Amino acid sequence: MMTFQLNRPRRLFIALTAVCALAACGSSADDEIIAAAEPTNDSTVDTDTTVPNSSDTDTSDTDTSDTDSSDTDTTAGVESAQWGDNVSITIGDGEFRFESDGIPNHELPDQFLVPQEGSFSPPVGEDEVTAVDTSVAVVATTVDQTITLNPIYSDATTDTNLGIIGVTISGAQLFNDYEDPDRSFVAVDDNFSIDGIFFVDSCNGHPLALAADGTGQGTYHYHGIPYCITDSIDADGEHSSILGFLLDGFPFYGPQDEGGATITSDDLDECSGHVGPTPEFPDGIYHYHLTADRSPYTVDCYHGEVEVSAGPGR
Ligand SMILES: [Zn+2]
Ligand SMILES: [Zn+2]
Repeated sequence: MMTFQLNRPRRLFIALTAVCALAACGSSADDEIIAAAEPTNDSTVDTDTTVPNSSDTDTSDTDTSDTDSSDTDTTAGVESAQWGDNVSITIGDGEFRFESDGIPNHELPDQFLVPQEGSFSPPVGEDEVTAVDTSVAVVATTVDQTITLNPIYSDATTDTNLGIIGVTISGAQLFNDYEDPDRSFVAVDDNFSIDGIFFVDSCNGHPLALAADGTGQGTYHYHGIPYCITDSIDADGEHSSILGFLLDGFPFYGPQDEGGATITSDDLDECSGHVGPTPEFPDGIYHYHLTADRSPYTVDCYHGEVEVSAGPGR
């Protein structure tokens, strides 16, 4: 069961959410993100990281400037993932294209608490968050991402930005756990409700802020485990099934490890990943898990090579 808490002053919440709304909204259409086998200059290197030992993941060479290619091929996973009817997957040469209208194929609450863009400076009052019908707040938006089928593990990690960090089988987007570029507001931890209407729903998702004119901007996204998906695809006693793929090409899963044991952040590396067998990759693969125990509930950094444009919230 999810528990919702209001453990920060709402005023702080609204101000920070508004920052997120400003930073994360409106530019997703330009947010062309291509996973590529090129080094990223803004990576942070974690020297404590040891190279995962996996026959499927060539991680022995951390010099990304040469022509080594990955042994990892996620085609089987992309083909077997339980994509919704609202998702179009096109497998091409070394990459796949994900297209959807961004609206998840599962039920949503009737209303969300949504801040309104354009009302965030100077600090806003609580009346800046309003209960909005889901039909207004969650509108179709183009999600079109091309992601490599040959992800390359790198010792260097790349922080995830605000905005899309992955695509899910439901058609909606995965975000990291933060609402603001300073990484101070964790959506799941700081969730709250007014009169039974929540900021983040029971599937750990919600829409972006409303545009200044009061119209919805779509872009429903998850900040934690989407239970409404995992409840239907994860089997008792088994490792979770693919929820989707991060922009670096590695798959991500719900919270069940091998044998169905619940995995926690402490079981995973700094990017919420580990190497091991999954239903789709029985020989083992580097993959991420969403967790329920604490932040990061999703993924705060990529451990695969990824090229992310200077997007929102940087
Ligand atoms: Zn959000
Ligand atoms: Zn696992």
